[in-house]
Amino acid sequence: MKYYVKTFGCQMNEHDSQILAGILDNYTDEVMEVGSEKNELTEDIWQADIIVVNTCCIRESAETKILGYLGSLKKYKTANPNVILVVCGCMAQESGAKERIKKRAPHIDIIFGTFNLPKLQDYIREYRHYRQFIYDVTETPGLEKAVLPVHQDIQAFKGKVNIIYGCNNFCAYCIVPYVRGRERSRSIAHILDEVKAIAAAGGKEVMLLGQNVNSYGKDFSDGGCHHFATLLEEVSKVEGIERIRYMSAHPKDFYVELIDTIAALPKVCKHFHLPLQSGCNQTLKDMNRGYTTEQYWHILEAIRKKIPESSITTDMIVGFPGESESDFQETLAFVDNCAFDDAYTFLYSPRTGTAAAKREDQLPEEIKNQRLQQLLEIQNKHSLANNQKLVGKEQLVLVEGKSKNNQSVWTGRTDTNKIVNIPAAIGEIDYTGMFMPVKITTAKTWYLTGEFIR
Ligand code: SF4
Repeated sequence: MKYYVKTFGCQMNEHDSQILAGILDNYTDEVMEVGSEKNELTEDIWQADIIVVNTCCIRESAETKILGYLGSLKKYKTANPNVILVVCGCMAQESGAKERIKKRAPHIDIIFGTFNLPKLQDYIREYRHYRQFIYDVTETPGLEKAVLPVHQDIQAFKGKVNIIYGCNNFCAYCIVPYVRGRERSRSIAHILDEVKAIAAAGGKEVMLLGQNVNSYGKDFSDGGCHHFATLLEEVSKVEGIERIRYMSAHPKDFYVELIDTIAALPKVCKHFHLPLQSGCNQTLKDMNRGYTTEQYWHILEAIRKKIPESSITTDMIVGFPGESESDFQETLAFVDNCAFDDAYTFLYSPRTGTAAAKREDQLPEEIKNQRLQQLLEIQNKHSLANNQKLVGKEQLVLVEGKSKNNQSVWTGRTDTNKIVNIPAAIGEIDYTGMFMPVKITTAKTWYLTGEFIR
């Protein structure tokens, strides 16, 4: 049996897709004969017996794009009526999604939500048996306790592990808590088992995933708030794993003692991604972010004091409803002071079902676009300046492979998550997955260039 998986959305979704693939790798049913050909992920959708679409709903535009994609799947069903079409993920979990999907893509056979990943095999078996449409978005408890197989991707030197599901924060612009439920932490034992499996398969870097990793363990019976630090210490003990990253951390829950833990653990990358979203306290309050710029600044100062070589990146949203010109000027001034290494900048776009989408003081697109340009101008200046500080220095780079845009260039990342491109000599060995010392020769806004130190 061959299957094809299409993923829309974030790193959490990409990892969920690895789990969906892992479940399908192990799929069996009574009509499959013992010794029959093994289940296999295919890159060729025309070859697939099962097509799984893992969806995202973070933006309205994402949903429109996905609905178009689901509509386009009809041709595979027409060519092969036995092919099974499955839709899951955040958009599937949304209220009213079934109707929207069935209207645009009546050929879809199975729709299930974010809580029901472990049941994929059951759905497929049931559909093969009865050939009846299946829809299941019940909020089944226990996903965090499930031990699920993970399909190993070709980048085996890197792996991802979910440490916490859901989010309790209800930021005013975000749909995630409505489609992924409340925070549920996985046990340290299960997480360590998965990290060890990644290491055993040759993995050197692991990314610990969650909507809010700092909240890890707050739902344990002792209610302690330092479980994430303990988890980092435990993951650090896993032999073979040499770099530990995490995504995402929420400034509201980023306690200063955690910086001491990270400073003391050489394997934990000295890269802090702390989504700021706005540099204006009124806008932060309207966004329901739960911190002020003063509190954010306190964390930033502590990081830079304790780990001066660290990099700090952020996410920003411009044009939130009600953001006045003076609010935005506060944001510009604050971002200028923060001097981030990089920022992922977004135009606010209303997401149906969230508090901010109901506000009447939405800003015109033109203003949002102008503000984004102003913000980028300031941020790009700091990105370049921070990168230039590394010119002439040696950095340890985990090589990820050849650059997608240029096959004569290797590309990899520093501990601080900066991209480094290294021109390759003809006939060289494959450096993919190797830690290489690199001398940085030039700096651009979004990447560095260097040469291997032989
Ligand atoms: S912390 Fe806020 S932005 Fe992040 S997932 Fe939760 S609600 Fe969404």
